[in-house]
Amino acid sequence: MKHLRLIVTAAAAIIGSLLVVTPANAQETVQETVQADDPWNGTIFLTFDDGPGGANTDQILEVLAANNAKATFFMIGQNAQRDPARVQAVLDAGHALGNHTWDHPDMTTLTRAQMDSQIGRSQTLLESHGAEVNCFRPPYGAYNSTVDAATTAAGLKRQMWNEDTRDWARPGVDAIVNVLLGATPGDVVLMHDGGGDRSQTVAALEIALPQLIEKGYNFGITPKCSPTP
Ligand SMILES: [Zn+2]
Repeated sequence: MKHLRLIVTAAAAIIGSLLVVTPANAQETVQETVQADDPWNGTIFLTFDDGPGGANTDQILEVLAANNAKATFFMIGQNAQRDPARVQAVLDAGHALGNHTWDHPDMTTLTRAQMDSQIGRSQTLLESHGAEVNCFRPPYGAYNSTVDAATTAAGLKRQMWNEDTRDWARPGVDAIVNVLLGATPGDVVLMHDGGGDRSQTVAALEIALPQLIEKGYNFGITPKCSPTP
């Protein structure tokens, strides 16, 4: 995470100044120290919401495969129902599915019975593909204690994010790339494969993933969403 990185960088700088190493060696020390202390083994957690999203999903699957990346797809139940082939394609590529409700309401406006229906209906649909679905992401990130109770009752864990690319607003490829390049191991990055044209998201992934790999990072399914080993 970023704080750890700052501390490590600061520590390396102090050590570096004591040893009077060259800048090149100091950089090497930072790199090694970050990796040795990283409980995440270099893994960044990419997540994609609101799909399946037609050709956007196909293109994202392609760029993930090209970078040996695994990710978590928080699908909307009714989108998944309309496009079973793409649900299967995501699963067949080794990614995880997450529950993102049936039709994307603000869960905090619903009764408990409606919450249970939103989660349960989507869960049944996704599981009909043979998926093990272990996590739930509330639309708009909106939750309260009743939403949490419904999530837990469905046997799911709430999976939020800590890095938001804001790709849904189509802020430009560079803006999305910048957020991606700021990610460090343990970060959960929010992106979208559904909800409209995602060509900026695809282009940003094509640029950023190889650069993150260059830093020694990799991309995996979040621990909360991972299928039971
Ligand atoms: Zn969403």
